[in-house]
Amino acid sequence: MTSDIDPFTLLAHVQIRLPERSNPISPPIYQTSTFETPDADAFLAMATEPLHAGFYTRYGNPTTRAFEDAVAALEGTESALATASGMGAVVAALLTFVAAGEHVIAQRVMYGGTMGLLKTIAPRLGIDVSFVDQTATEAFANAIRPTTRLMMLETPSNPMLRLTDLRAVAALTKSKGITTLVDNTISSPINQRPCDLGIDLVMHSATKYLSGHSDVSAGVVAGSSALISAIWEKAYVLGATLDPLAAWLALRGLRTLPMRVQRHNETAMQVATYLEQHPRVEAVHYPGLPGHPQHALAHGQMTGFGGLLSFEVTGGAAAAEAVVAGLRLAHRSASFGSFSTLVVHPSAMWAGMLNAEQLREADLPPSLIRLGVGFESPAALIADLEAALAN
Ligand SMILES: *Cc1c(COP(=O)(O)O)cnc(C)c1O
Repeated sequence: MTSDIDPFTLLAHVQIRLPERSNPISPPIYQTSTFETPDADAFLAMATEPLHAGFYTRYGNPTTRAFEDAVAALEGTESALATASGMGAVVAALLTFVAAGEHVIAQRVMYGGTMGLLKTIAPRLGIDVSFVDQTATEAFANAIRPTTRLMMLETPSNPMLRLTDLRAVAALTKSKGITTLVDNTISSPINQRPCDLGIDLVMHSATKYLSGHSDVSAGVVAGSSALISAIWEKAYVLGATLDPLAAWLALRGLRTLPMRVQRHNETAMQVATYLEQHPRVEAVHYPGLPGHPQHALAHGQMTGFGGLLSFEVTGGAAAAEAVVAGLRLAHRSASFGSFSTLVVHPSAMWAGMLNAEQLREADLPPSLIRLGVGFESPAALIADLEAALAN
């Protein structure tokens, strides 16, 4: 750049110019909040086109679009919309499909943040919610009202790894004007593709398996172009936009998703099989085990069983606490889908907020331990569990 331009003006116009016929292997991060439009007509067109990726980053962004397109392809859907967190996707979906005076059917056991939304915020907006047993398809059927607009599902659910029969529940909603949304965070699209089973929308906390490195908060919802455009109309106003740098990190993590999930599946199966025969373990909850009460359903709708499992030890809450404290490889942390094994003692985590009755209602046995396996060798994890259970 010539130096007869004053430094203020010069710095205001610095741009990267890519040499001709040169393309980066790693896609660039479009870390820009806004884009230049050629003329007034284009400005209007770009501002009003759903999911335009080059107008204003809260409306869409090329880096974010690359992540969204990859997730849509993995889920087998036409389109996807990224959000700043998994909860951003849940809130946007709820507010898109349900208004005051309308009704939602949800599971009695769902992610804590989703429960908070449905139990404390939805009623203030005049939205009615029915909570049903996810393992009883007839409970969903019985809960349907003329005002029902949305069914919110999560399978496997956390932390007991119970399943919802997705084909059966999807069939209940056909031609009733009810949209179905599945939280697919725990399975990832490698192990389960709900939209192939008749479900309308699938969402993820990309904070977990999709990004996979415990270094980014992100969410995404995928489905038909019509439904995703409808969510976009609300989401760009709600403002839970994924930052381009976070989208780039999520996409970088996503590239290794199939390899990571395969490893998680294999390790969790070995750990679950080990725990099942341990005398101090009263129950193991993992859909891949033949003894899981819904193992046949797991085979019918999942192609792998994931990296999350839970188990109950003898001796109640204090014993569970001692086992968690005795683990050396597992970090006590409120997440999963990481390179490192993460563990929680759910009833202790919720004890400050829920009484004994509510803990039962939330399906949280006192001696339950939840394990999200990482990439450690299965032998090392099993040895660590062996030592902690010997205490
Ligand atoms: C973590 C999680 C969420 C929320 O995701 P955030 O990215 O933390 O907002 C939703 N559903 C499930 C199953 C989760 O594990």
